[in-house]
Amino acid sequence: MTLFSAAYYAELARTMNCPRCDRPAGRDEVDNGVGILVGPYGCPCGWSENPDYDTSGGPRHDDAGYRLDQWGGATPPQTIESEIR
Ligand SMILES: [Zn+2]
Repeated sequence: MTLFSAAYYAELARTMNCPRCDRPAGRDEVDNGVGILVGPYGCPCGWSENPDYDTSGGPRHDDAGYRLDQWGGATPPQTIESEIR
């Protein structure tokens, strides 16, 4: 039985290398019990599939001070402070 569209399964099967440094790119995937959600592919070099999260030019922060990473993650400033202690 097919629960989701062919495009959904194609996206889950998709892999890619970083277009800049050719290393295998990674992404976050989470099963919420209904389906699998995926984030943008990103690379340790800072490249992100989503230009809004590209960190090639250094760390990026949103308007609330959250640090954005190339995988679409946003870390609140409080967490960063606690990691220092
Ligand atoms: Zn790269």
